[in-house]
Amino acid sequence: MPTPSRHRLPALGAALLVALAVAVLVRAAPTPAASAPTTAVTGCAYAPSPTQVRRGPSTAKRVALTFDDGPAALTSSVLRVLAQERVPATFFVVGRNVAGREALLRRALAAGHMLANHSFTHVSLAKADAAATQELKDTQDAIARATGFTPCLFRPPFGASSRALVTKAGDQRLTSVLWSVNSKDFTEPGTAAIRQRVLADVRPGSIVLLHDGGGDRRQTLAALPSIVRTLKARGYRFVTVPSLLGLSLTHASRR
Ligand code: ZN
Repeated sequence: MPTPSRHRLPALGAALLVALAVAVLVRAAPTPAASAPTTAVTGCAYAPSPTQVRRGPSTAKRVALTFDDGPAALTSSVLRVLAQERVPATFFVVGRNVAGREALLRRALAAGHMLANHSFTHVSLAKADAAATQELKDTQDAIARATGFTPCLFRPPFGASSRALVTKAGDQRLTSVLWSVNSKDFTEPGTAAIRQRVLADVRPGSIVLLHDGGGDRRQTLAALPSIVRTLKARGYRFVTVPSLLGLSLTHASRR
């Protein structure tokens, strides 16, 4: 004679399994930022490097455009040009500029661009003291709070670095990245000079230094379309710095 417990036990087991599965899923799901990121990208993989990275592999015609010192007044215009040209870029963000421009950063990330750490107040961190550690951390926090994304790249303000700073950045799982092509756009030499300098110096694997903040960047903005189109015509493909360096991205499940 079948007892009810015979049926109840498998049912109980199934219920437990379901509960377990739900618990695992809930644990695995990352907590979305309060601001509900519009992108599912939550981070990129840290690649330890004892020295600063200046370029990617020269084995393919790939180039990474980078924009420092924003987000700022012209960042949305830069994003518009990049969207028109359908190319991604990497933005080295100054932490104190994040407040009030959170949505802009979320939009950049959702459009396939990458965000990176460029200190909180744009002072030299070469001394690698406790204040430098705090600058790095505050910027990581500001970007993560605004976008749900935690950067894995750091560019020292003014390119001023030291072995100790590279180590200190590494402690926060940040790879230090400089550039191999300097547009010197921050000297405001004119649109043609910016364009010529970049086009003369780009090689396969180049990382190009440009600016979307820290001053009047209208010349940079004006030079951008022809820089992109000329490099495309030369057979270059545009990638983000993490992509150029082969760093994998982490994703949250879409909601
Ligand atoms: Zn800078």
